Amino acid sequence: MMNSKSLVHIENVSKFYGDLKALDNVSLDIHEGETVVIIGPSGSGKSTLLRSINKLETIDAGKVIIDGVDIYDEATDINKVREEVGMVFQSFNVFPHKTVMENLNLAQTVVRKRTAEEATGISKKLLEKVGIFEKADEYPGKLSGGQQQRVAIARALAMTPKIMLFDEPTSALDPEMIGEVLDVMTKLAKEGMTMVVVTHEMGFAREVADRIIFMDHGAVVEQGTPDEFFDHTENDRAKLFLSQIL
Ligand code: ADP
Ligand code: MG
Repeated sequence: MMNSKSLVHIENVSKFYGDLKALDNVSLDIHEGETVVIIGPSGSGKSTLLRSINKLETIDAGKVIIDGVDIYDEATDINKVREEVGMVFQSFNVFPHKTVMENLNLAQTVVRKRTAEEATGISKKLLEKVGIFEKADEYPGKLSGGQQQRVAIARALAMTPKIMLFDEPTSALDPEMIGEVLDVMTKLAKEGMTMVVVTHEMGFAREVADRIIFMDHGAVVEQGTPDEFFDHTENDRAKLFLSQIL
């Protein structure tokens, strides 16, 4: 599902680490309701691009506009913007000394200023949605990797973000747990969440993405629908990548 409103506008963004060009003049729009999957070889700049959407990186050129707000403008309150952008990493960044419910409630009460009762109501719905309602009072250490990652997703969703960013959310999981996390992400995408997903899960990319972005050496070198990309790309670097992973 997608309409034409651009929620993320990335324009001519470049970023260097010393002499290394991690992002090379990247331009990209993510529309409301769209699921964009970013793929590419290791070191191609996928994480750097994702992190620049949340201003977790500085950039050397270009701009990033989130829902109309120029996030690299010094006058912008980046914390306000980050409230609208949920992020899920490879390593499940949940708080180990808080229960699952406390993990979900924390930012809701502190940042969103919801009452404990309101927050708990929202958290329960989200735990149900990600299939771990019965784990509400457990500590994350008692959960499997797949369950912890679903807590991380639910916690991000608890902020009711406008956009969700996922950086290889299943890469640290045992194979038998990958499916349960991808299922949650698939459900979210179908519900119309705006999502940017870096992943090596090509089945997910093919099934769920509205658009595939292929990066190499810091640049977007190819993009298209899954069908265009997986079955009809003429780009040599994309073909090489696909021949190595499929
Ligand atoms: P990907 O996520 O596609 O594997 P990254 O965005 O992590 O790629 O990295 C892009 C390039 O930038 C790589 O060459 C990587 O080694 C380099 N890089 C990433 N982070 C840093 C950093 N903090 N310092 C120096 N180089 C970095
Ligand atoms: Mg990465």
